[in-house]
Amino acid sequence: MNNMPSKRPFKKITLIGIGLIGSSLARAIKKHRLTDQIAITARRRTTLDKARRLKLGTSFHLKATQAVKNADLVILCAPLGANASIAEEIGPHIKPGVIVTDVGSCKTSVISDVGPHLMNGVHLVPAHPVAGTEHSGPEAGFANLFVRRWCILTPPTDTNASAINKMSRFWRKLGSWVEIMDAQHHDRVLAITSHLPHLIAYTIVDTASELERELQKEVVKYSAGGFRDFTRIAASDPIMWRDIFLSNKEAVLEILGRFSEDLSALQRAIRRSDGDRLQETFVRTRSIRKGVIDANQA
Ligand code: NAP
Repeated sequence: MNNMPSKRPFKKITLIGIGLIGSSLARAIKKHRLTDQIAITARRRTTLDKARRLKLGTSFHLKATQAVKNADLVILCAPLGANASIAEEIGPHIKPGVIVTDVGSCKTSVISDVGPHLMNGVHLVPAHPVAGTEHSGPEAGFANLFVRRWCILTPPTDTNASAINKMSRFWRKLGSWVEIMDAQHHDRVLAITSHLPHLIAYTIVDTASELERELQKEVVKYSAGGFRDFTRIAASDPIMWRDIFLSNKEAVLEILGRFSEDLSALQRAIRRSDGDRLQETFVRTRSIRKGVIDANQA
C-alpha cells in the first residue's frame, strides 16, 4: 500500500446539495484532482441515486452529519433558504481548522445564517461563482461551468488568511477569476447585475401569460423580437430565486426603487414624444453592451 501523503489540496470535500452547481463542482473537482474523496448529500433519495449513477462522488449520504465526517472542506450547494438549518445540523460535527464555504447568490445572509453555528477555529469563506444556467439538478452540471467566470469570495474581516488563499487557489484551479469583496457590497452589485434582471424577466413573462389566449400565441410566435431571451431567464429555478429575493431584500428594494424612477422617466419621454431623451438613453446603454463584450462576459 502507498503510504505517501496525498499531494491533492484537500483529503475529503463534502458537497451539501448536488444540483446544477454542486454537480458541476463535483465534476470539476474530479477533473482537476483536487481531493481524494468527494462525499455527497442531497435532501431526497432520488437525487442521491442520480448522483451515484453519474459517479459524482466517492460516498453518498442522506445524513449531512455523516457526509461531513473527516472532511477538510465543506461546500454548501443547496438553496439559500436551507443554509441556516443545514449549518445548525452539521455545525457541531465540523472540527476547528476545516474550511466551510458555499456557492450562494447572496452573501450577507450566508454569513448570518451559517456563521453562528460554526465552532471557533472553523474557517467560513463564503463564495459566489457568477456562473450558471437556467437548468437544475445533478444531470445539468458540467465541469467547465466555472471556466473564465468570476468567483467572488466575501470572507468576514477576521477570516484566517491562509483559508482565504486556499479557496482562491481552489477556484483558480477550476478556471475561475477570483475577486475578494465585502459581502454587503457584493449583494448591492448582484442586485443590479443579476437579481433585478431576473425580476424583470419574471414580470414580463408573467404579464404575457396573463394576456388573453390569442395574443399569447402571437407572443410565442414572434418571441425572437426580444421576449425569447426573457423566457430563458424566467425559466430559472423557482425555489432558488424565491430564496435570493428573500435573502437580498434590502439591496433589491433599493435598486428596484431607482429602476422604477428611471422607468417612469422613459414612460414620460414616450408620452411627451421626447425622442431626444429616448435616443440619449439608448446611446448610453449601447456603450454598456460594448463594455460587457470587452470584459469577455458576453
Ligand atoms: P439546484 O440545481 O436546484 O440544486 C439544489 C440542490 O440542493 C439539490 O441537490 C437539492 O436536493 C439540494 N437541497 C435542497 N434543500 C436541501 C437541504 N435542506 N439539505 C440538503 N440538500 C438540499 O440548485 P443550484 O442551481 O445548484 O443552486 C444551488 C445554489 O447555488 C443556490 O444557493 C444558488 O443561489 C447558487 N447559485 C446558482 C446559480 C445558478 O445559475 N443555478 C449560479 C450561482 C450560484 P434535492 O434534489 O434532493 O431536493
